[in-house]
Amino acid sequence: MHLSKSLRDEFHLPTGVRAYLCGNSLGLQPKATRAALLEELDAWAAYGVEGHFRGDKPWMYYHELARKGLSHVLGAKESEVVAMNSLTANLHLLMTSFYRPSRGRAKVLIEAGSFSSDRHAVCSQIQLNGFDPKVELIELHPSGATFSTAEIIEAIAAHGDSLALVLWPGVQYRTGQAFEIAKITAAAHAVGAVAGFDLAHAVGNLALQLHDSEADFAVWCSYKYLNSGAGAVAGAFVHERHAHFSGRRLAGWWGHNEKTRFQMGPDFDPTAGADGWQLSNPPVLALAPLLVSLAQFLRFDIAQVQARGHALTASAIAELDQAHAGQIEVLTPRDPLHRGAQLSLRMRAGRDAGRVAFERLSAHGVIGDWREPDIIRIAFPGLYAELQDVHRLLEALA
Ligand SMILES: *Cc1c(COP(=O)(O)O)cnc(C)c1O
Repeated sequence: MHLSKSLRDEFHLPTGVRAYLCGNSLGLQPKATRAALLEELDAWAAYGVEGHFRGDKPWMYYHELARKGLSHVLGAKESEVVAMNSLTANLHLLMTSFYRPSRGRAKVLIEAGSFSSDRHAVCSQIQLNGFDPKVELIELHPSGATFSTAEIIEAIAAHGDSLALVLWPGVQYRTGQAFEIAKITAAAHAVGAVAGFDLAHAVGNLALQLHDSEADFAVWCSYKYLNSGAGAVAGAFVHERHAHFSGRRLAGWWGHNEKTRFQMGPDFDPTAGADGWQLSNPPVLALAPLLVSLAQFLRFDIAQVQARGHALTASAIAELDQAHAGQIEVLTPRDPLHRGAQLSLRMRAGRDAGRVAFERLSAHGVIGDWREPDIIRIAFPGLYAELQDVHRLLEALA
C-alpha cells in the first residue's frame, strides 16, 4: 500500500501537544495498542496457564509473531531476527559470542561520543575478556561535525588486524547522521574484524537492508521509531552465515531446540538462527504492543516510510535556512544518504540561547528533546509526522 498521507489518526497525540517531534526518543502510542494489550489480559483471565496453547495467539509461540514484521523493518530473513530483552542486554549477549579478542587482536572501534550504554557495554566486555579498555577501546572522532564514510573506512584499515570488532550506529543518536552499513561492514571484514551495529535510531526510520549488508550482528530497541512503548521488547539480528554458530554464548532454555525444549534435558542444543540467543520465555504483555507496531509497518514498503521522513526533514531544513540561517545551525548531514528523520540543531549564539529556544518550543507545544551540551533534537517519523509539524516548528521559533 502507498503511504500517501500520514497515519496520524491512528496514534494518540499527548494532551496539549501541537507537534510531536520526539519520536526518535519515544514514539507515539498507536490507538490499537490498548486493545491488543487487553486481549492478552483477557486471555490470561479466561485461560490461565492454558493461554500457552489456546486463543488466537498461543503464548508458547508468541515471539514468533514478531518475526515477519521484524524481517520487514530490518531487511533481514525471518530466521535472522528475534524479539527479546532490551537493547543493552542484547548487545551483551551478542558481544559475548562475536567479540572474541586475542592477544594482538582485541581492539573495538566505536564512534567518539557514543551513547553511554553502548560504551559501558563495550568496556565491560573488554574487561570480562581480560583486557584493558584504556588500551583496546578506540573512539574515532569525526574530522568535522559528522563523519565521512571514507574516514571511517580509513580508520578501520589503519587499525588493521588489531581490530576484533567494529561496533557502529546505524544512525548516530546525537547528530542524526546515518551510516553506510554495507561499506563499514566490508571494511571491517577486509581486516578480519566482526561488524556489529546498534540500530536504535535506524530501525523504523531507514529502509535497512541488513541481510544484504553482510553485517554480523545488530541490536535495536522498539520504543523509538517502532512506537512500542517505554522499555519495549528489543531485538537482535544475527546474519544467516552464523545460523549454526557453535562458539561461546550465554544460553537459556528458550534458545534450546524447540522440539526437545520441554524434555528439560541437561545438554544445550541451540536453535538455528537468531532464536538460539534467546534466554527466557517471551514476555507476552510486553510483546503485544510491538506486534501492533510491526503490523502497521507491514502495510507499507519501508522505503516509503523513509521517503516521507526524508521529505519532511528536507522541508524543515529549507525553512530553517530561509528564516534562521544566521541563528540556527543544522548539524545533521543534508544529504539524504546520510540522514533519516532526525535533525540536530544548535543555536550559533551558544548553549544558553539553545536552552531558551528549546523552552520556547515546549511552551508552544512543539516537543523535541535536549541533548547536552547544546543540541536540540527533532524528528519527523515517516509514519505519522506531517508538513503541519514543520510549520508549527517554524511558528514556534518565530
Ligand atoms: C536508545 C538507545 C539505547 C537505550 O538502551 P536500552 O538498553 O534500551 O535502555 C542504547 N543505545 C543507543 C545508541 C540508543 O540510541
